[in-house]
Amino acid sequence: MRGLAGKVAVITGAASGIGAACALRLAEEGVVVFLADIDDPGSRSVARSITAQGGSATVVHLDVSSVDDWDDLLARVRADHGRLDILHSNAFLEIKGPAHELDPADWDQQLGVSLTGTYLGVRTFAQMLVKTEGAIILTSSIHALLGFAGRPAYAAAKGGLVALGRQFAVEYAPAVRVNVILPGSILTPAWDPQSTEEMAAHAAGILVGRLGRPDEVAAAVAFLASDEASYITGATLVIDGGLSVFKRR
Ligand code: NAD
Repeated sequence: MRGLAGKVAVITGAASGIGAACALRLAEEGVVVFLADIDDPGSRSVARSITAQGGSATVVHLDVSSVDDWDDLLARVRADHGRLDILHSNAFLEIKGPAHELDPADWDQQLGVSLTGTYLGVRTFAQMLVKTEGAIILTSSIHALLGFAGRPAYAAAKGGLVALGRQFAVEYAPAVRVNVILPGSILTPAWDPQSTEEMAAHAAGILVGRLGRPDEVAAAVAFLASDEASYITGATLVIDGGLSVFKRR
């Protein structure tokens, strides 16, 4: 896609699932990617796949909720490349339980990863992204539009990301484009606890009749990061195979 080759990207939650697919896709497009995750072996495995394809990837240990880790990453990016063009905030943590059963520490931890982690990433790299006229992409969820039982903190974080993405778009315009993706049901390790029967029942509620693949989300992320999306900012993009527009009788 136009304008991606030679760019530098940081992707959080890049060791698995959607983040890993986005890293692979951006690397295919010639982007130098920083794989930022707490799962170092997972990131190393993604980095091996990228280098095997002739791409360039750097593994960095980053807990998105840690200010110190973000400072270290900033120093590393500055030393290695002196620039950042793309920030994809994507790390995932979900601790289920209705509000009356959810431990306040679990609430804080989920918002720390999904919401505060995004703020910290933008706080760290905003000035660099303004200089490069870069792009920010936030991974929210259709959970920002629909309620699913037992997930109050996840809903709050993902809904918050939609407002935060709009806010960042306003804050850093016209230099930086900021967009939010809302994936539906995407087959990643996050789905491992579900049985085959549960997944089949779930797929029946999706217009295209199946769960999505991480590379289908990565294609949208590559587009939003590229110059092909030069007039798109402050937008939300639902990537859910029609799940959120379909009501089974
Ligand atoms: P995943 O579990 O496959 O990957 C999540 C990654 O985040 C893991 O590598 C994990 O180590 C990393 N992570 C967790 N805590 C972290 C922290 N504190 N700091 C840095 N990294 C951390 O999940 P996924 O399904 O690929 O989800 C990726 C994103 O997509 C998430 O934001 C999730 O909410 C969103 N999403 C996923 C789906 C889906 O169906 N899979 C649907 C909607 C939205």
